[in-house]
Amino acid sequence: MTCAEFQRVLPYIIDGGGSAEEQQHLATCQVCSDLIADLRYIAEAAKLLVPMEDPSPKVWSGIQESLEREGMVKPARKHF
Ligand SMILES: [Zn+2]
Repeated sequence: MTCAEFQRVLPYIIDGGGSAEEQQHLATCQVCSDLIADLRYIAEAAKLLVPMEDPSPKVWSGIQESLEREGMVKPARKHF
């Protein structure tokens, strides 16, 4: 298997997949194993940067309160 073939299936291998042949290439090819290491590092770093996908309502109400306190938005009124 060539590096080009290996790199076509990189995302799959990073996820923990990969056939025996692909694992074999990874074990014997410095270029591809470095590439995997870099991509794993980037993926880990990105996880730390990406905000929570689904902030809880508590987080949002905390944001709203601090905006109100700073006069950025008017407090919500029950009666208009
Ligand atoms: Zn390779």
